[in-house]
Amino acid sequence: MSTTNEARVVEPRTVEHWIGGASTPGGSSRRGPVWNPATGARQADVVLGSAADVDLAVATATKAFAAWQDVPLTRRAKILFAFRELVNAHVDDLARIVTAEHGKVVSDAKGEVQRGLEVVEFACGIPHLLKGEFSDQVSTGVDAYSFRQPLGVVAGITPFNFPVMVPMWMHPIAIACGNTFVLKPSERDPSASTLVAELWQRAGLPDGVFNVVHGDKEAVDAVLDHPGIAAVSFVGSTTIARYVHERASRAGKRVQALGGAKNHAVVLPDADLDFAADHITAAAYGSAGQRCMAISAVVAVGEAGDVLVEKLRERAAAIQVGPGVDDAAEMGPVVTRQAQERVAAYVENGTEEGATVVLDGRGLRVAGHEDGFFVGPCLLDRVDPAMKVYQDEVFGPLLVVLRADTLDDAIGLVNASPYGNGTAVFTGSGEAARTFQRSVTVGMIGINVPIPVPMAFYSFGGWKDSLFGDRHVHGSEGVGFYTRAKAVTARWPHIEQVVDATLHFPST
Ligand code: NAD
Repeated sequence: MSTTNEARVVEPRTVEHWIGGASTPGGSSRRGPVWNPATGARQADVVLGSAADVDLAVATATKAFAAWQDVPLTRRAKILFAFRELVNAHVDDLARIVTAEHGKVVSDAKGEVQRGLEVVEFACGIPHLLKGEFSDQVSTGVDAYSFRQPLGVVAGITPFNFPVMVPMWMHPIAIACGNTFVLKPSERDPSASTLVAELWQRAGLPDGVFNVVHGDKEAVDAVLDHPGIAAVSFVGSTTIARYVHERASRAGKRVQALGGAKNHAVVLPDADLDFAADHITAAAYGSAGQRCMAISAVVAVGEAGDVLVEKLRERAAAIQVGPGVDDAAEMGPVVTRQAQERVAAYVENGTEEGATVVLDGRGLRVAGHEDGFFVGPCLLDRVDPAMKVYQDEVFGPLLVVLRADTLDDAIGLVNASPYGNGTAVFTGSGEAARTFQRSVTVGMIGINVPIPVPMAFYSFGGWKDSLFGDRHVHGSEGVGFYTRAKAVTARWPHIEQVVDATLHFPST
């Protein structure tokens, strides 16, 4: 006989697609787990979309594009302003969803939403951003002008580490420019995208302009191959970025594919070493090192080395690790069990290859959260460029320290890395900083700023294996990516002024 106390199997919540202004399960029976990284529990399932689901989203977005491209700029801007207000009013809700699925601490999740919001605010200026050019009287009675038009249906494929901010690098600008959008978020933390979709709808965006299809490789491949999608923005690891760039380009699409990173902080002996240690610690271990702009390698120049390593050790050892919802926690867990094991394996590997373990966060247990995916801060010194722990992007709370004799040697190390996302120099010398900024083959540079993420009114993007394609995201590059230009040469002759058509270019 069953009793009310009998254990009941509670089905986890299912995160569905958002197509045409409504939540829908789509036609695929495949589901993926959504973990709570702080507890290790499977808290939800996410629908893993099929090619048919992508097709439905693209058909819906195509239909919506017909009307949306003609919506006046001022009306689009009003919707953007309303969306801005709604996102601002839901910062806490979005942050809590991010923390529950990603694991980062709530204060950090709020910061991510704020940085996304700045792109929405930039996109509110779309009437100004889309102004064309005009040249009066380029020939007798002839004017020339150019203007930009949207591409059509565009897609975004995004990583787990910023489930609100990275999609917001894309959709506010794409939509403001008159495109319709299909987002394929990370399957590891998919829920924030549903709230974002609801906020767009409440802001007055017509149904079908912003759509979300969840999934993994199957959905991604369907996006890359779909003839109805004009452009793809991707952010994720380098292997997948390269693949996305090649496959979508082959299908004739415009592509920007941002990849992984190994961001170096070069510390010169004339730097304020306490300041450098404070900021590098925050940049290495914030969000458990799972930021594309995290500092993951320090290059200590000359006598800065030993002093700096001790200062880094002191600070890293003092970091409070705990569940993201705990106000006292400064660093949460990593995103999955595999990520936890991967970081541990790199510490092991670095040790075997001869690095000095200064701080070992493996085996950290957080009371009451023993099954969570926690790794404490790890610090390896005397790391060599040939070591795997240096060459690979670890994407966890693991900082490695290399030693260099001179600034030139340090710049050589930065430039030999296949990655070129971000880098920072800590110095008291303007001359050294200027040499550094001019010489490094890296897209985003900090001078005594460890995480130099450009503001929304600049563009974000790396060099080398950190970006495939020629346009960075947001800022004016984002507007350029999501539009194409038309150049018009116009004449309005009076009947008596009609000029005979000739086969040669006119010379007056
Ligand atoms: P990921 O490459 O595993 O996943 C990114 C997206 O690609 C996800 O939507 C995922 O579903 C999809 N994907 C994964 N495997 C695929 C496959 N085999 N075929 C097709 N699609 C696939 O990246 P992640 O682990 O979610 O995110 C972390 C990575 O993203 C890190 O490498 C980090 O440096 C990078 N990142 C870069 C930037 C940047 O601006 N350059 C910003 C954020 C994150």
